Amino acid sequence: MSEFDLIARYFARPTRHAVLGVGDDCALLAPTPGMQLAISADMLVEGRHFFADVDPCRLGHKALAVNLSDLAAMGAKPAWCTLSIALPSLNENWVAAFCTGFFALANAHGLELVGGDTTRGPLTIAVQIAGELPPGCAIRRDGAQVGDDIWVSGTLGAAAVAVMARTGRLDDAGLDALAGMQCVDRLDLPTPRIELGLALRGIATAALDISDGLLGDLAHICRRSSCGAQIIWPLLPVHPALVALPEAIRQEAALAGGDDYELCFTAAASRRNELQALSQQLCLPLTHIGVIDAATGVRAVDASGQPVLPGKTGFDHFAA
Ligand code: ADP
Ligand code: MG
Repeated sequence: MSEFDLIARYFARPTRHAVLGVGDDCALLAPTPGMQLAISADMLVEGRHFFADVDPCRLGHKALAVNLSDLAAMGAKPAWCTLSIALPSLNENWVAAFCTGFFALANAHGLELVGGDTTRGPLTIAVQIAGELPPGCAIRRDGAQVGDDIWVSGTLGAAAVAVMARTGRLDDAGLDALAGMQCVDRLDLPTPRIELGLALRGIATAALDISDGLLGDLAHICRRSSCGAQIIWPLLPVHPALVALPEAIRQEAALAGGDDYELCFTAAASRRNELQALSQQLCLPLTHIGVIDAATGVRAVDASGQPVLPGKTGFDHFAA
């Protein structure tokens, strides 16, 4: 099978919205008149973002989910994407399984694959994604106001605990405490919060998706919005699988662990009822976890106001 057979068999799909999809030098897109495009890219590299033995179907899901999550965080509606993939060898079963995971998620969100690149090399997957939103509706990182509530969707910590379990950081007692609870699905199969992002237009003053850990990611909102943030640790919606783990591990996983791909957003206190109703409507927990203040940086405190995990920040690929 040649590179071109592979593309034709697995990546060329009929498109309904794109004027021209896979097969030419460029795709042709006609954005909805009056809409803005939100563009983002995220790359997954073997050994850094996933383990070498990862199930290809799950990898297809994750490669797209992390990109959809960026659109969600901006309040954009998914439209098109490209897929650039480096493969060490041409294993058709692997590609077929990858596509199963990738297209199931793409189809669920009306997202069209319109192009990409295929090359031989160390396993690397780079997706670029485009969504649409009305001008002025994007939920940026620079809109948080002093006094805003800080909210988070879903639950936190399970993906980080799955990484701890896989990398040998949990002792036997820790592994027993997990008691077979499925943390690994939270790591491999994150759910991009697209519907939530769309519903937060006009409500949230700032938002981002938690990929590198709550404290570190929230610090991006603080920097861009020139404000500080206080998180109340006992309010955090820690994933139920972590309940029997030592508190230090729960804190590290939920506050500084990444990969949950939940949304963290800020909103005026006057929006609490609306957000509670939205949580019911989406069947998705939305939890008020803290407040934006005029201090600097992000601080987590316990019930008595004592600092939790001082100095901890999110993941940084180039940290010393
Ligand atoms: P070019 O030589 O112009 O870069 P390619 O031969 O790389 O074109 O690709 C041929 C067509 O297949 C293009 O339309 C390209 O966008 C598409 N394509 C290549 N790889 C992928 C992929 N992994 N997923 C989707 N489309 C792809
Ligand atoms: Mg090419």
